[in-house]
Amino acid sequence: MNFDISRKRMVESQIIARGIKDRRLIEAMLKVPRHIFVEEAMATQAYNDNPLPIGEKQTISQPYMVALMTELLELKGTEKVLEIGTGSGYQAAILASLADRVYTIERIRSLVLRARKALDILGLFNVNIKIADGTVGWKEDAPFDAIIVTAGSPDIPLELIDQLAVGGRMVIPVGGQIEQTLLRITKEKDGAIVREELTGCRFVKLIGKYGWEGENL
Ligand code: SAM
Repeated sequence: MNFDISRKRMVESQIIARGIKDRRLIEAMLKVPRHIFVEEAMATQAYNDNPLPIGEKQTISQPYMVALMTELLELKGTEKVLEIGTGSGYQAAILASLADRVYTIERIRSLVLRARKALDILGLFNVNIKIADGTVGWKEDAPFDAIIVTAGSPDIPLELIDQLAVGGRMVIPVGGQIEQTLLRITKEKDGAIVREELTGCRFVKLIGKYGWEGENL
């Protein structure tokens, strides 16, 4: 299988054809080899138009959802970005290609180890990963110019709003355990919070202090 051809097709048919316009994002998706973020047995499915299992009952998100959420952050290259839900590390790799520095939090240790390995293979050393409950954010390194939550939350964790820089943007799926609405929260220059509802979506649960209840790890 020629992964370069599959990736180009994915970007044309799933990303550009659906209206993603950010040129830097399109370049990053053409460049980052998504297949190294999934198990070897799944590599041939890595460019399909759907999420895929990555073990531990978790998923790597659909390519279009990665693109849509990233475009909403409006990254220019100078930002410090916080991601909650490292999962495979693919979203972090896209962010690392578009921003100055990425902080990403994952609660499952085995996923962190695999994600770190993939990011290192690509030389993406501007990504800091922490094993923790991301619903409380990453206080020591706040504020963040952009925050992306890649698991479904019952509500917007207030700590994350506190850790969003003035002028910053956060994207987060909020709603039930199965279906959510993708929201963008903007912290305006005067500190006002603007909330936009973008589309319906389905993410695995955000589990933690300000998320859903789940097994302790
Ligand atoms: N962004 C990921 C990628 O590119 O592969 C996909 C993330 S997956 C849909 C959601 C991830 O959020 C899972 O790996 C899950 O373990 C993680 N997660 C859930 N609750 C969390 C929390 N409170 N803190 C950090 N990670 C969490």
